[in-house]
Amino acid sequence: MPETFDSSRSSGPRFDTVLIANRGEIAARIQKACRELGLKTVVVYSEADREAPYGKTADNALCIGPSSAAKSYLNRDALLLAARLTGAGAIHPGYGFLSENAAFADAVEKAGLTFIGPSAASIETMGDKIAAKRAMIAAGVPCVPGPDTALADDPAAAERVALEIGYPVIVKAAGGGGGRGMRVVPDAGQLHEAVALTREEARKAFGSPSLYMEKFLGHPRHIEIQVLCDTHGNAVWLGHRDCSMQRRHQKVVEEAPAPGIPPDVIRPVGQACVEACRQIGYRGVGTFEFLYEDGAFYFIEMNTRLQVEHPVTEMTSGLDIVQAQIRAAQGDPLDLLQGDVKCDGHAFECRINAEDPDTFLPSAGVITDVALPEGPGIRVDTHIHAGYKVPPYYDSLIAKLIVHAPTRAEAMARMREALAGTRVEGISTNIPFLRALFEDSAFARGETDIHYLEQWLKQRSAS
Ligand code: ADP
Repeated sequence: MPETFDSSRSSGPRFDTVLIANRGEIAARIQKACRELGLKTVVVYSEADREAPYGKTADNALCIGPSSAAKSYLNRDALLLAARLTGAGAIHPGYGFLSENAAFADAVEKAGLTFIGPSAASIETMGDKIAAKRAMIAAGVPCVPGPDTALADDPAAAERVALEIGYPVIVKAAGGGGGRGMRVVPDAGQLHEAVALTREEARKAFGSPSLYMEKFLGHPRHIEIQVLCDTHGNAVWLGHRDCSMQRRHQKVVEEAPAPGIPPDVIRPVGQACVEACRQIGYRGVGTFEFLYEDGAFYFIEMNTRLQVEHPVTEMTSGLDIVQAQIRAAQGDPLDLLQGDVKCDGHAFECRINAEDPDTFLPSAGVITDVALPEGPGIRVDTHIHAGYKVPPYYDSLIAKLIVHAPTRAEAMARMREALAGTRVEGISTNIPFLRALFEDSAFARGETDIHYLEQWLKQRSAS
């Protein structure tokens, strides 16, 4: 049993070895958290990731299949077999891949292992956006106007719902994700085609034709709340993040806290999130995503996993969210109350992607040289090094550059300096694009919404 834990306080499952069912920067990040907790790690890798550095520092490393994610990182049987062969007592799914797959969480638990995440039932409820909306309304979390029921397969009924909400509306797949399976409907003339197309897309991409409709907000910001829960009914929220800087619904830059939100406006929303967690018996870490427009918050979805942008909250709260997540999975009670959560200063995260800075096309290949910034208030989460080969098969994220400073303006200046000191040679990266973004005056003033980056890119390509 690791010495770091006080076993007298625990009532949940104990494990001393964690299998990391992921790759890249997050595999390295989870390994670090495990090691600091005195836990052993098992790294599983595809053939394309054979040389990944975190495999070499793990207690055990195992190839689980060919390069294709479907045959390796998404291969549930291979992952469970790897856990059995290595004696791992728990599986950390990271983000992406199987992290929000209720059937996998269930299979892990049925195999007698701990899934480091919420229960399969919580994942299932929150994975269905209609069920999630219903659960949130019940807990008093504000939602986007629109019914919490599936849209009937009847044109007249769809017309009635749209009229009641008021155009423009958005039609969304209940099982949608990754920014797909949704369509904006500006007026009644386009309703039926939009519903038919989205239903077909939902059936094909998500295996369910279930749709719902809500108000389309014209200029919202994306603001999210990080929660942390144990298995004893305790839950806290760790402040908020702004992730409005998006391209094709993909976050590019994140920050904590979201600028310009009055504490008395966000506090009841955070409290409602915590209440929702208690009501659904949520455990571990999670994120409630909201749109924020004209001073009001509207819930859009919950992510039942660790998020890419968790470091900005770690920087402001001083907490290690991955360690807290693992301890919650061990059954440890939370060792902090809401009043103990203090968020200081301001943090930014830039996602450094292996992609062309103008076309955004992925760029794989060998990194010939790397220079990463260092200094107070600077953190880099990455697995890359000179000689590392970026495989073409997976997400293009190769590093996260995170800065923290007392004020937003100082954090921006620190990020500019950190980006100036970041060099990745041999492949293309979005670093030049990020540098340009941090020179933008509207961004500096905190006056951006979810459409801002797309408009900024359009203007840039036109000039
Ligand atoms: P996904 O699960 O695919 O990420 P979300 O429901 O989180 O889908 O929505 C993704 C993005 O789509 C949001 O960040 C926002 O940019 C946009 N969006 C979703 N719902 C609305 C809405 N009601 N009004 C305006 N934009 C929306």
